[in-house]
Amino acid sequence: MSETTLNADPQELAKFGELAHRWWDPDGEFRPLHQINPLRLDWIAGLAKLPGADVLDVGCGGGILAESMARRGARVLGIDLSTKPLKVAQLHALETGVENLSYREVAVEQLASERPASFDVVTCMEMLEHVPEPASVVRACAQLVKPGGRVFFSTLNRNPKAFLFAIVGAEHVLGLLPKGTHEYARFIKPSELARYGRDAGLEIDQMKGMEYNPLTRRYWLSARTDVNYLLACRRPA
Ligand code: SAH
Repeated sequence: MSETTLNADPQELAKFGELAHRWWDPDGEFRPLHQINPLRLDWIAGLAKLPGADVLDVGCGGGILAESMARRGARVLGIDLSTKPLKVAQLHALETGVENLSYREVAVEQLASERPASFDVVTCMEMLEHVPEPASVVRACAQLVKPGGRVFFSTLNRNPKAFLFAIVGAEHVLGLLPKGTHEYARFIKPSELARYGRDAGLEIDQMKGMEYNPLTRRYWLSARTDVNYLLACRRPA
């Protein structure tokens, strides 16, 4: 795939590259990902059988979710287009001795043409809002999953509350995320994400919201999808 057709924003990839060395610091810039990981992992594991499954994690970054799914017994491939986070992910897997886990720098669209229908589960978390054409990523995920398999997405809703919470609150007031982490125009409404999924031939299974209380610093899943939300899809068998 040539540089000009790559569905990626070089500035976004550079941003994650610069912070890569901080990825596994539970109190660092990626603290929110560490904190939400047990929640999303349990949610995924409740809907898809992870032990023995072939799992693809798209936009895996430093590997927080990928590694945790491998620990649950899945064979996991993590892909990303930012080099440094992938190196950090590889190093961390080596250090912790997690097996059944590998990483590769490849575009999801390219992997979809190389090996369609080869994963039982595809996850793509907190990634679509950093990509120029999220629908193309959703399509590729749908091609990569086997018939009957599951695809899980999470991203940020686009409305005034999401702007207030995810950008003003998280980046500027609470300092949960570095300034400039998110760009509002790239946020995706649940109806849009569901449409991308259906257009790609996926069935929509379940949608959940992820909420945060800054006072107790707790996260939990709920029915409120107005800021951060997760979508579970299935490829018809
Ligand atoms: N999914 C991980 C990391 C989220 S951070 C988690 O939830 O724990 C967002 C990640 O998306 C970064 O690692 C960034 O490099 C990656 N990313 C951004 N644009 C991408 C693209 N076009 N293709 C693949 N990965 C991309």
